[in-house]
Amino acid sequence: MVIRARETILAGTQITIPYDYELTWVSRARNLTPIIGGPCDCVMCVSERADGENAYRLRQKLIEDTETARLDNGRSAGSTIFDIKLEQAHTKRLVSTYRTDQGLPRAPLFTAYLYTMQSMDQDATELNRPDLLKHSIRMGFEALKAAGFTNIDTKLTGNTLSSRVLPVSKECVATCLVDINTCIVLMAHLSASFLALSEIGCAESWFRAAWWGKYTLCISSLDDWLIYIISTRSKFWWGPGVV
Ligand SMILES: [Zn+2]
Repeated sequence: MVIRARETILAGTQITIPYDYELTWVSRARNLTPIIGGPCDCVMCVSERADGENAYRLRQKLIEDTETARLDNGRSAGSTIFDIKLEQAHTKRLVSTYRTDQGLPRAPLFTAYLYTMQSMDQDATELNRPDLLKHSIRMGFEALKAAGFTNIDTKLTGNTLSSRVLPVSKECVATCLVDINTCIVLMAHLSASFLALSEIGCAESWFRAAWWGKYTLCISSLDDWLIYIISTRSKFWWGPGVV
């Protein structure tokens, strides 16, 4: 494991790392109590506890509904717009269980936005609906936000960021409590979606983000994605030395 500090650590400072990735504070507490003698008091767990019992119950139910729906539905055999509307309504309810958007990672929301993004992406391809691809990209941005990423560049067109600027803040890596590998693959996915829309500037920008993630986090599973992206658009820019 490689741990990178984003600030100077003085001798004697207690260092904490996220090592339980359950979706709610209750399930994390179940795992952590035998180890640390009580529920976790990290900023995310404290915030979720403060949301209250009713919010927790509804959230838990919505998480279970998501899992059941993914097991049951036949998206692999083709999907419908109707399903997407249901997924969006579900995500909206999940959002309502959080008091305010405090910029903390929300793992259940990340999963919900990711699923909706994938569904929209599938429908965009099957139904030849570029407008859905734009919605899918927006869901990807929301997923990254729910993962704790900040300073997300949400432009959908004409991106002309300098080659040394990323469309997300690099600070997040230290605080991200959801599956960071999936986040990086999601960035590559955003790049591919922008390519499909012929938004080369945005595609390039998100490609850089994925490339940065791959090398910062040493994710090998991203290779196939990057090769796919490079091979599908020969005029697509990429090169060493950025970031
Ligand atoms: Zn915690």
